[in-house]
Amino acid sequence: MVAPRLASDRVLEPLEGKDPTIATICSHSSLQIFHGARLEGFRTLGIARGKAPRFYDAFPLAKPDMFLTLPKVTEIGEHAERLRREAAVLVPTGSFVEYVGPERFSKLPVPVFGNRRVMEWESDREKERVWLEGAGVRMPRKYTDSSEVDGPVIVKYYGAKGGRGFILAKNRHELDNFRIVEPHVIQEYVIGTRYYIHFFYSPLNDKGYRCGDGSLELLGMDRRDEANIDELYKLGSQEELLRSGIRPTFVVTGNVPVVLRESLLPEIFEIGEKIVERSIDLFGGMVGPFCVEGIMTEKLEFYVFEISTRIVAGTNVYINGSPYSDMVAPGLSTGRRIALELKRAMAEDRLAEILS
Ligand code: ATP
Repeated sequence: MVAPRLASDRVLEPLEGKDPTIATICSHSSLQIFHGARLEGFRTLGIARGKAPRFYDAFPLAKPDMFLTLPKVTEIGEHAERLRREAAVLVPTGSFVEYVGPERFSKLPVPVFGNRRVMEWESDREKERVWLEGAGVRMPRKYTDSSEVDGPVIVKYYGAKGGRGFILAKNRHELDNFRIVEPHVIQEYVIGTRYYIHFFYSPLNDKGYRCGDGSLELLGMDRRDEANIDELYKLGSQEELLRSGIRPTFVVTGNVPVVLRESLLPEIFEIGEKIVERSIDLFGGMVGPFCVEGIMTEKLEFYVFEISTRIVAGTNVYINGSPYSDMVAPGLSTGRRIALELKRAMAEDRLAEILS
């Protein structure tokens, strides 16, 4: 089967007869993206607000070759011409979701690594559920009304970034104590262990774990450090904290490496595979890195509460390879894997299948 063509000739125009430059916003996972790109011989460009960030001076192997500095990252579209001149290929990260937004991002006249349509599916919780449930993946139950609640729940506000202000309640009675006004979703609070699974889907690779039109790779896993929820237990029960005016948050402050019981890997691969296959049916497929975020219960059932359809910051713990990616290729980071995919597409004249 031939992978769908994502990019039109118009999108690929700036790359004609030129070597691409790997570009991204100077934040999130940029060190890894630039480091990996350099290892594979690409030029690199960092997009920054204000002036070029100094911290790259401390990491010479990951410092971009050039910078594009803007008063505001939201203005990136106004600098598309410069990016096109540099034959930039944008690597989307959480910073694009956060600062540029799906609407502006979808219209940028600059080639993007992966299928840019995917951002609209990940940033809308309703669409995300349609995709994941349609894929047959187990998700936490969603309550349409608080009167249906029959166990612990988590209330997520729409657009709440990083889980700030989420509400946790042990039962319906406790939930009734909260006045929830903004648009939100009430979800079953799944009790178990969190895993953030880093996959890479290559439509070009016809070897390995075959999936969709190509192949699925497992590059790593992490768990997020979430302030202040991870440490709250040290201070006492939630009720007491609430009485003191302290609300739990899930703001991510860092990441730690984890591995999964090996016997659970087949199920994890099946989940990744179903998500990729459904994405091909829904919007022409997801290309490159994505992260399946879920909770493994004591019954060893994995509940997916979210998907990030791009490189996640949790991959930063594996800049020199992970226990999984080392068995794909030694020292392979997700950033480097992106560069390798681009290199292969250039060699095989298949850029239209991995860029959009
Ligand atoms: P981010 O933008 O950082 O990904 P978000 O605002 O999209 O966050 P989620 O990723 O859905 O929010 O959830 C944030 C955190 O809340 C998760 O990392 C996890 O710790 C916890 N969480 C989310 N859903 C559930 C659930 N159904 N059961 C238990 N914990 C959950």
